[in-house]
Amino acid sequence: MLVVEEGLLGQTFLELRRCGAGRAECVVVWTGPVAGPGHVDGLLHPNHSASAAGYDVDGGWLTATALALAAERRSIRAQCTRTPAPPTTRAPTTTTRSLRCPVCSRS
Ligand SMILES: [Zn+2]
Repeated sequence: MLVVEEGLLGQTFLELRRCGAGRAECVVVWTGPVAGPGHVDGLLHPNHSASAAGYDVDGGWLTATALALAAERRSIRAQCTRTPAPPTTRAPTTTTRSLRCPVCSRS
């Protein structure tokens, strides 16, 4: 179970709506201190490209962020994504995505 710091959930929804604008996917990650594994007190918005059908996180951003988080004794707790309403022409699909740490390869 994750305990999310007050205000972070609202900030997450604002960021996802602002970036994707209802037309493209967006992703943000929640972070927290390594010493508090269930605690979430930070939000990061990766450099990413996106369309209505997916997004790609910039590998350079992910590497730099993983190193910075490790130096600060912090880690990524979860990723939150927003997908625009599917167009009527989109074939039904199910996809699973996970972010992997480029340093330790854990998701
Ligand atoms: Zn975004």
